[in-house]
Amino acid sequence: MKKTPGNNTKLCGYCSGQGYFQLRLGGSETCPCCGGSGKVITC
Ligand SMILES: [Zn+2]
Repeated sequence: MKKTPGNNTKLCGYCSGQGYFQLRLGGSETCPCCGGSGKVITC
């Protein structure tokens, strides 16, 4: 079996796979680690 790029469903540990952070002040901020995709790219 070959590893297929793009089929990696490993979630970003930085934002718990959400792709963004929930700010206490209100609103949300895009995760700088995964760029908002929620998946691990480079971090
Ligand atoms: Zn993230």
